[in-house]
Amino acid sequence: MTLEGPELTIRDLPSPNRDLRPADMPIDTLVLHYTGMQTGQAAIDRLRDPAAKVSSHYVVETDGTIFRLVPEALRAAHAGVSHWRGNTALNGRSIGIEIVNPGHEWGYRPFPALQMAAVCELCLEILGRHPIPPQNVVGHSDIAPDRKQDPGEYFDWEGLAANGVGLWPTEPVLPAPPADQALGLLGAIGYRTDLALPVLLTAFQRRWRQTRVDGEADAETMAVLAAVARLHDDPSSHPH
Ligand SMILES: [Zn+2]
Repeated sequence: MTLEGPELTIRDLPSPNRDLRPADMPIDTLVLHYTGMQTGQAAIDRLRDPAAKVSSHYVVETDGTIFRLVPEALRAAHAGVSHWRGNTALNGRSIGIEIVNPGHEWGYRPFPALQMAAVCELCLEILGRHPIPPQNVVGHSDIAPDRKQDPGEYFDWEGLAANGVGLWPTEPVLPAPPADQALGLLGAIGYRTDLALPVLLTAFQRRWRQTRVDGEADAETMAVLAAVARLHDDPSSHPH
């Protein structure tokens, strides 16, 4: 992934599905989604439909075009029931980016390079404006593992982290810890721990071990899980 390219251009397409954020709540979380609809236009129409009651701050089209639907100062309705690192109802404290992709329901496909470059650039600008630690750059499936699969196993989290957006472990922890440590490690990263372990492991794999997403606590999953948990513990991972 490269950050070279034209200046980021953002077009305003206001959504009525916005309201005030809770008073005195920091904007400390960035949530990435895929749209999960057949076209970008269909997704934008829905995110601007008062009857749908959903929205996001931004939509990034497959060609890298960025639309702003809700100003960052206001609350958008993208996360729903959600949990991360002890916080719940993350709409109040987060910025949401919807990335156009049909998703698992309509033909999930890799995200084009132009689109990822635009996502990366937009994320970097957002991180520069708000106190969002890298541990709080998350996918919708991380914060709602029982309901959501987005942005899914084709999403290039490693490439984003290489450009300063979110975390990615350099090495797995070997020997891998035993499978009975899985829940504790997931909790240390920030996942809620009151769901079935395969559900949580599936969400973890979609994000961090994308080659096989099966909910199993195999040795590779455990080795990566330990590495990610270590990364989330590391005080040097808190530059923002
Ligand atoms: Zn989503």
